[in-house]
Amino acid sequence: MKTITVNGRSYAWPQAPTVVVCIDGSEPDYIEIAVAGGAMPFMARMLDNGANLRAQCVVPSFTNPNNLSIVTGRPPLVHGISGNYFLNPETGEEVMMNDPALLRAPTLFPAFQEAGASIVIVTAKDKLRRLLGHGLRFGQGGAICFSSEKAEQATLVENGIEGVTALVGMDVPSVYSAELSEFVFAVGCKLMESRRPDLMYLSTTDYVQHKHAPGSAGANAFYAMMDGYLAQLDEKGAVLCLTADHGMNAKHNASGTPDVIFLQDVLDDWLGEGATRVILPITDPYVVHHGALGSFATAYLPDSTDAQEIADRLSGLEGIEYAAPKAAACARFELPEDRMGDLVVVSTVHKVIGTRPELHDLSGLEVPLRSHGGVSEQTVPLLCNRPVDTAGRSLRNFDAFDLALNAAQPSTLVQPDP
Ligand code: ZN
Ligand code: ZN
Repeated sequence: MKTITVNGRSYAWPQAPTVVVCIDGSEPDYIEIAVAGGAMPFMARMLDNGANLRAQCVVPSFTNPNNLSIVTGRPPLVHGISGNYFLNPETGEEVMMNDPALLRAPTLFPAFQEAGASIVIVTAKDKLRRLLGHGLRFGQGGAICFSSEKAEQATLVENGIEGVTALVGMDVPSVYSAELSEFVFAVGCKLMESRRPDLMYLSTTDYVQHKHAPGSAGANAFYAMMDGYLAQLDEKGAVLCLTADHGMNAKHNASGTPDVIFLQDVLDDWLGEGATRVILPITDPYVVHHGALGSFATAYLPDSTDAQEIADRLSGLEGIEYAAPKAAACARFELPEDRMGDLVVVSTVHKVIGTRPELHDLSGLEVPLRSHGGVSEQTVPLLCNRPVDTAGRSLRNFDAFDLALNAAQPSTLVQPDP
């Protein structure tokens, strides 16, 4: 049987259309509570007959590093995407990490395309599109890769498809809406029907999870919507594997205001104004979700500073779960050292790290802050619509394609326990 090797991992050729879904910000409770309350009847059946596993995501538990890990099968140390945002040491500028030039490893899609596979990639937000589609051939008979956000602008040459809105019969939804993710599923189902691709990757946005806690009406409605589309994909014979880029937790105090450690203020106080530079890799253009407040930060220190000493001091602050010099942190979290500051700082489950109060626009936060980025958002679902044998493995979310292609295909199925 044909196998494809990418970044040192081997994948069996799909025997059925194989769909990996990254549900952005899907803390395990969202699905568990929705299933228990009857909001996800298909998922309830799927979990009974398939695989209901948990996996660890990449830290920083942000969108870009994890999506790229899922599609490369490797941690950021290998693919290079260490945040949504970083300080480019070559230019000294703070920039978004959505340029394929920053990618240090191929995704598994070009190798599959080269071997003859048809590929469909749909992402909610456009910030991921160029990274996910990097190295693919588009145009007639080529791959399809586009975002809901920019579906209207999709062209055959750049995205492998045009007329997307007519195909789904939905207008392009607002970038801040549950419908932006629904659009991903709706188009995924349409393309499963019309193209029946060998590989499909669907990636949603965490707009709903930033606003609504697990079990709330808003969350259950979102998961019920998703359930209908997943049932359709399953009905069409697809192998399904679902995971998340990261979890999500409440990050506010009792009065509902964000519980923030302003790290730039702390370091200015200790080392002098302007001596250090705090970078928040959660930063992206969609600040309404989170006001750039997450549980992970990195800081650049003056050459003369003892990073270990500062890390130890930070570790003693209330709300800091982890602080370490770059080398130790990058070894622990499998991150590229040249894209991290001298210090890595992670806050506890209900706290976030900011720079200075005046640098965070919280005007878009309509509800108490929910966010991610830390070790506390590392556990995510890893679910298949077929039983899989993972005995003895400690799973990562970036094992999703391995599970889908090597364990959940029709010929590799394990028998469920009687
Ligand atoms: Zn995310
Ligand atoms: Zn988010």
